[in-house]
Formats: sequence, structure tokens, C-alpha cells
Amino acid sequence: MKPIKKPVIAGNWKMYKTIAEARDLAGAVVEGFPGVREATIILIPPFTAIQEVRRTVSGTEIAVGAQDVFWEARGAFTGEISPLQLREAGCDFVVIGHSERRQYFGETDETVRQKTLAALDHELIPIVCIGETLEERENGQTLDRIRNQLEKSLFILDESGFTRVVLAYEPIWAIGTGRNATPEQAEEVHYFIRGLIASRYGKTVADYAIILYGGSVKPDNALSLAREKDVDGFLVGGASLEAESFLGIAREALRAVRD
Ligand code: PEP
Repeated sequence: MKPIKKPVIAGNWKMYKTIAEARDLAGAVVEGFPGVREATIILIPPFTAIQEVRRTVSGTEIAVGAQDVFWEARGAFTGEISPLQLREAGCDFVVIGHSERRQYFGETDETVRQKTLAALDHELIPIVCIGETLEERENGQTLDRIRNQLEKSLFILDESGFTRVVLAYEPIWAIGTGRNATPEQAEEVHYFIRGLIASRYGKTVADYAIILYGGSVKPDNALSLAREKDVDGFLVGGASLEAESFLGIAREALRAVRD
């Protein structure tokens, strides 16, 4: 039986939204989802809008995250933002290892490991992204790639660290392309990830691990993806930029648990 878990719906706003636009979007999400307790909603604006979004959602159950973090708490690291600074600005979560950061900014499994440890040290919940390229999928290397990423960046954590991490399976070929993984493709990888977690940390930890799917999630494909046994919610990019589509996805994720 699937343990009862709240679905997690996280909106990655990437490098979109001014501070005023971020306030409006966060306000519309608050209005559309008043007092919801059966889901964990996380808004992930650009750094400049974190404090404004935090203020806008204050007094609600909605959480705030950042899109990246550096692994040191302070120092001469021009342009970086530390976990300490993110906590102060009001973040509860931080995305680590997003494929756009791996692709354009040299993020590796090693930097993901360092950032994850730093986030945990400062009581930020890391949302760690893993996923294969189209070429790896076509060459039948998807599961090897996933195993490799997990072993190098996360399985070095002890159990108490690992249980505070949220995972996001994001096939790179599905991000921002309009081409989502089918529910079967997503489930195959999520099931595999849960199996690896079970071998490393035991079945209970695996059962309660939160594994999100990300990659062109929209209101009209969210329900079938959310119904898969090992899909615990979504990391949403493009469709989180409008309140209507983001709320639509959240409603579908809730429907999948209620049905
Ligand atoms: C993302 O940015 O993590 C993402 C999944 O983007 P999109 O939903 O646009 O594919």
C-alpha cells in the first residue's frame, strides 16, 4: 500500500518575474488555494523576489524556495548566495542540480553533493534534481544515469540527512519542451529510484521518500502522472508562471490522492 503522503507541488519560476509580478502571482496562488493543508505548495521565485513572495504568503501554508545555493555560509564568493542568506530571506526549500544549472553553469554531481550538505546544515530542504538526456534515454542508459547521480550526490548522506531531501526526477528532454514523460515512463524511473533508496536506507525510508516528477507538467497531463504509485507530486516550470495553470496542476494532484 502507498503510504499517505501530501502531494508536493513546487513552482520553479526560473528567471521570470519582476518583484511586482512575483507579488501578483504569489497573491493569486494564495487566493486560489486558501488554507490548503492536504498539499505542500512551494513557490520558487528568482532570488530578488524571495522576500516579497515570503511576505505575500505569510500566514498561509504556502512555502517558499530558492533556485540554487552555494555551499559556503559566507566568504569571498562574488555573485553566490549562501544557505544562511536564503534562510534569512525566508526560504524553506532550495532546488539543487536543476538540469539548466548542470547544462549552462557547470553544476556536477559533486557540486550537488556539496550544496545538499550545506542546505541541510542550515535547515533548508533540498529539492535535488536528477534525470537523463535524450541521448541517454535512446541508448538505454536512463537507469544507469539515475543510479550514478544518486550514488555520487545523495547516497553519501546518512539516514537522517537523506530523509530530509526531496527528489525530483526531471528527464532533460522533457523540460521546457512541451514533451512530458508518459505516466509509464515516469513510474518506471520513480519505482527504480525508490528501489535504490530501499537498498541503501531500507524500505521504510524508501516508502516515505518524496519523489517529484518534472518536465512539461500541465493541468491536462497532471492527473494521469499523479495517479502513478511512485509519483508524489510535481516540480513545475513553465506552467507555474500563471496562477491558473499552476493551481490547475495542484488540484489535479489533490484529486489523484482523493480518488
Ligand atoms: C523545471 O523547470 O523544473 C521544469 C520542469 O520546467 P517545465 O515544467 O517548463 O518543463
